Amino acid sequence: MKIKLFGCVGVLLGLCAINAAHAELIRGVVVQQTMPKPWEVDNRPTGKGWGERPPAGQGYATSTGRKSSTGANGITYHGGPVMLGTTGVYYIWYGNWAGNTATSILPDLISGLSGSSYYNINTTYYNGSNVAVSNSTLLKKSITDNYSRGTALADADVTAIVSSAITSGALPVDPNAVYFVLTSADVNETSGFCTSYCGWHTHGTIAGQDIKYSFVGNPDRCPTACAAQTVGPNGNAGADAMASVLTHELEEAVTDPDLNAWYDTSGAENADKCAWKFGTTYTTSNGAKANMKLGARDFLIQQNWLNASGGLCTLAH
Ligand SMILES: [Zn+2]
Repeated sequence: MKIKLFGCVGVLLGLCAINAAHAELIRGVVVQQTMPKPWEVDNRPTGKGWGERPPAGQGYATSTGRKSSTGANGITYHGGPVMLGTTGVYYIWYGNWAGNTATSILPDLISGLSGSSYYNINTTYYNGSNVAVSNSTLLKKSITDNYSRGTALADADVTAIVSSAITSGALPVDPNAVYFVLTSADVNETSGFCTSYCGWHTHGTIAGQDIKYSFVGNPDRCPTACAAQTVGPNGNAGADAMASVLTHELEEAVTDPDLNAWYDTSGAENADKCAWKFGTTYTTSNGAKANMKLGARDFLIQQNWLNASGGLCTLAH
């Protein structure tokens, strides 16, 4: 998910030179084929909220192998899997979260999302057998990581944090889940947290399985870039902002787990198309804005792209 104030707005404008540095995040199986015609290639998502042009001859074909023009709903299926059934969530609380209410707000977020009319938007996405994503997600386990890789993380460190959690047995091997590395505000992600993005998702082979994982940093580190407001509806500006970024990454991971399923011609995944768009809001008792109630809590969470009715950013389906 891109930051609020600065972001790559498209390769056509030549503003995406930074993308080359993130190519290593693409671990989707490239469909080898004869060189496609230009109109058969969509930009591939990087998982960081911008698309990048695939190398010549390595564009993804659609499942049918036909022209992959933008679908009737503004987003196109590219043949890869989606996540089915109840999607598991694992939290790795990295750094120092002692006394931070994020550790109750963000677990409540997942239980509130599951079965909600908001999360139901994801059920408009399906795989090549027309099996749709379920309106069901579950926080299965949370663990802590006490700065095992220090306070300046490269992308490879995030991968290593997830890998260590799994191979040590602290977390199970679960290919039908998303592992979130949630870093405290004193931790940087040096490939662009707070300057290019607020979170990202990708996947890779860990313990022999295709593991989906995501980085979401604490926007208390950079509220002007990664938080929509300075007071959150749950009284924790950083955690309340993380709720929107985390949800963004979760719904992208569910509909595009291997970066080869649902995205548009610019490489934007479903949530990318609605980043920082909140729709109708209301004011909570502490003065913060919110736009949905999930369980007992108010949240301000960005809209998501509906893959129906011609496609639109919405808060409910
Ligand atoms: Zn995104």
